This record gives sequence, C-alpha cells and structure tokens, in this order.
Amino acid sequence: MTRILPPDISAATFDRALAAFEAIVGATQVASSPASLAPYADPFAPGPLAASFVPSAALLPAGVDEIRAILRVANEYRIPLWTVSTGRNFAYGGAAPRLPGSVVLDLQRMNRILAVDEPLAYALVEPGVSYFDLHHHLRERGYRLWVDPPAAGWGSIVGNTLERGFGTTAYGDHAATQCGMEVVLANGDVVRTGMGGIDIGTSWQAFRHGYGPSFDPMFMQSNYGIVTKMGVWLMPAPSAYLLGEIQFQRDDDLEAIVETLRPLRLNGTIGNQAVIEGALRRAASIGPRSQWYRGAGVMPESAIASMIGKLNIGRWNLHYALYGEREVIDAQEVLVRRAFGRIPGARMLSKTYDGSAEPEAGGDRNLAGIPAMTAFRMLDWRGGRGAHVDFSPVCPATGRDAMRQYTMAKARANEYGFDYYGGFTAGERHLHHIAAAIFDGSDARQSELAGDLLRAWMSDAHGAGYGEYRSHLVYMDFAAARYNFNDGALLRLSETVKDALDPSGILSPGKQGIWPKAFRNWRGYT
Ligand code: ADP
Repeated sequence: MTRILPPDISAATFDRALAAFEAIVGATQVASSPASLAPYADPFAPGPLAASFVPSAALLPAGVDEIRAILRVANEYRIPLWTVSTGRNFAYGGAAPRLPGSVVLDLQRMNRILAVDEPLAYALVEPGVSYFDLHHHLRERGYRLWVDPPAAGWGSIVGNTLERGFGTTAYGDHAATQCGMEVVLANGDVVRTGMGGIDIGTSWQAFRHGYGPSFDPMFMQSNYGIVTKMGVWLMPAPSAYLLGEIQFQRDDDLEAIVETLRPLRLNGTIGNQAVIEGALRRAASIGPRSQWYRGAGVMPESAIASMIGKLNIGRWNLHYALYGEREVIDAQEVLVRRAFGRIPGARMLSKTYDGSAEPEAGGDRNLAGIPAMTAFRMLDWRGGRGAHVDFSPVCPATGRDAMRQYTMAKARANEYGFDYYGGFTAGERHLHHIAAAIFDGSDARQSELAGDLLRAWMSDAHGAGYGEYRSHLVYMDFAAARYNFNDGALLRLSETVKDALDPSGILSPGKQGIWPKAFRNWRGYT
C-alpha cells in the first residue's frame, strides 16, 4: 500500500516532521499506521472519490501549549493540519480531511468542562466534551440546566457548534447560543474573543459582543483558527414541558403545516425548533424498510401507504415542545391545537411532564434536552452497511418554498433510485430542510448513485435560488461555488482573510471551499 503524504512533502521530510510532532505530544499520541488511521476515514463515503480523503497522520495534543508547538513545526515544514474535536461529523465526512495527506489534529483528549454557572446558565468547555459528557455532568451535580442535543449525542459541543449544527429545544440554534471562544491562530497566537479579551474578565460567557468587531462567527465553518475553549448558553430546566406530535394525512399538507407553524414560531407560542418529519423518516425510527417492502430501488406508493396505516403515523409528523409554567403551557396548547386543527385530518398527541420527569426512552427525548443515539436507527433502513449523505438546503419558512423543495428533492431522489427520506426543522424565518440519501456502504453502485444524487440535488437547489447550509467534503467546492454573487465575491473575501491569517496555508485547506494560496490549485479536486 502506498504511503499517503502531505502534498509536495517527501517521505524523508515527513519522517522528520513526524519525529518533531512525537517530541511534542509523545509517540503514543501520533497515529501514522494504516490501522491507527482507520478511525479517520469517512465512514459514510459516498462514491469512490470520497474514499480519497485520507490523512497522512493524526496527532492528539493534550493542551494549548502542545498545539502551539505543533503549529511551529507545521509552519516550518508546510504541513497541512485538519482540526477535529471528536471527529463525528458523520454524513459530512467524519474526521477525514478535505486535502488528502493532511495531518488530522484530533482534540478529543482536551475534554475538560471548565465551568458551569447555574444562575447565568452557561458552560465553558474544551473541544473533546461531548453532549453526553456535559449532560451527565449537569445531571450528576444536580444543575437545573439542559443541553440542546443534536441528532446524535456522541459528538462534541465545539465541533457541532462550529459547523452551525442544530437541535430541537428552544436552544436549538447552536451558533446563536455560543458565547466566547479561545482560539489558537495559525501563527500560534492565542486569542479570547468578546469579553474574554479582558485578562481578569468576568463576563466572557455572559455577553457575546464585547467591544469592537465580533470574531466568533468567523471561526465557524472556516479554517481561520483552532478553537480550544468555547462558551455555550444552557437552557434553564423548565418547571414543566409538553411534547406534542401532530400527524397529517396528505403529502401536500406540508404547505399548510409550514404556513401554520411560522406565525406560532414568530410569536413565540412554539418556542422550540419544531421538526416536520416525512413518513419514511418517522418510520425509520421504528424499524427497517424490509418490514414494509423487500424490493430494490424506490419504495412504491402502495407500500408507503400501507406502512403509514399500519404504523399509525402521518405523511408528515410535526414534533413540537412547549416549555415553562404549566398554566402557560396549557394555554399555548389550546392555541396550537386550534391552529393545526384547521388542517383536515390532523391527529394530535401530546403529553405534559413535570420539569424533573423524563420522557420514556425511544421517543422525543432530544426535545427534553436528553442526548441520544436513536438517529442512528436510520442506518438500518436500507440494510447492508448503512450509510447516508445529507442534502441540506436552507428553505425560507413559507409553505410554497417547502413544497417546492420537497417536490424537487423527491422527484430527483426517485430518479436515482432513492426514497425521499427527509424533514424540515423550523427556525423562525427559515427551515433547515434535510434529505438523506441512505445507502449500503458495501454496495459500490449504490454509494456512487448516492454521490451523484447529491450533486444533482445541489444543482437543482441552486437553479431555484436555494443554497446549502453545510456540505460533505466532496461537495465543499461545489457548494461554495454556488454562492456566486458578483463573480464569487464572498469566497474572494474568505480567501483574502485566509491568506492574511494563515500565509503558509496550514489550517484545514479547502474547508468550506476556502483554499489558501499555497494549495489553491487543489480547488475542485474530488
Ligand atoms: P463532532 O463534534 O460532530 O465530532 P467534528 O469534531 O467532526 O464534530 O467537527 C466538525 C468540523 O468542525 C470539523 O470537520 C472541523 O472542520 C471543524 N472543527 C471541529 N473542531 C474544531 C476546532 N476545535 N477548531 C476548529 N475547527 C474545528
């Protein structure tokens, strides 16, 4: 097997760099054999090209001083580093780097919870802290605070927030509930953003903006720095909460659902990031597709209809939550039921909990701030070695746009032999539309088709004026190129900033389509 090296670095030079890295982190914290690098491969690589995103080595530093020393070596040898926190960015590339031969900088060992403040409802965490870790920490110590878990709770708070991931409680917009960062820049300088700029500061996690320009958002979905600490606001545990599901009978109810939901989100009646789940996604949380259909290719409409009937679910299933005082929740529930009751055939289920009670396992526990791994059930939907790749266009929160995206995505998916497997998560003025191409990773043809479908989906979306909020490594350049106003002025700005902050181009080259001068000829390589 040929050895993977960073671009334009000889084996001898790389060995010298590895020795220097070992002297910093210790030999046991450097991975360079194929076996030890296996965890850094993309577990859900769509198509043959995706498998080429492989690292040359991985380093697991213990702290900021080691990171700074690593940066000195990387700058000297011009070795690209690809930073991950826990590397569980599954469906978008996992821990794999965009530029083949990059050295993964894996921060999972930096996993301290540095502070929790109950009255001000925040935590300060290092990159290796997962949603499970923080949740257990809060529960064990009796803090009346909730995390907002994304679909899979094993990932890190820092990694998910930097990718602008989201969950389903009232704190579901992770980028919006982040407050204060510590960042190591490519030149080794350590910066604290916002109020963290004051040496003996008191308000780092209390006020996001500080004084002067705000830099926190610049470190999200970018390659401008290595984030080593992050503040995150936590939701005060409510005294009571209600979890509700409303099931709708017809495909084109989607339009009315979105039109009904938006005003309730905008006026705060529904305070959480409610989810409108398609029938197949709802069904996949219960069991595999083979129960309903054993054929290959797209599941026929008759099988879908019979599945929906037998499972007693809707064509669309709205999951929402109400949090607060019981009297207020009761009143809000009346308004919610009245509004959605206007959609013929809507079936409503809901349950109210005391704030200290937990919903039973397997349900909507994420909406009660409890991280879970139930999202992984979807991997069993198609059978084989379950994998998926996600199409994630932003959708304005109008019924017309939602119907348009759904209809386009479904038609294209069916054309490539995939079911429409998706749903919409509701911000206030936008929806995150996520459609997944689920495939058997051991089936080369199916993986390739999933990759082709992604590209077709993205082209369709762009043609209709939509853009993606996030993308898999394979499509980072493709997605960035679709942001094309004034001949790509946005990407030009991103790369001007990149070259100023990181002249050797060592931090995550190619991330989000941002290529430093040193590696710009790699743009478009997939
Ligand atoms: P997860 O939390 O799901 O395990 P990852 O650790 O895979 O997430 O991070 C997702 C992406 O976010 C990475 O591919 C990387 O681009 C970026 N990222 C993660 N952690 C950091 C960090 N500490 N500093 C800078 N970028 C990061």
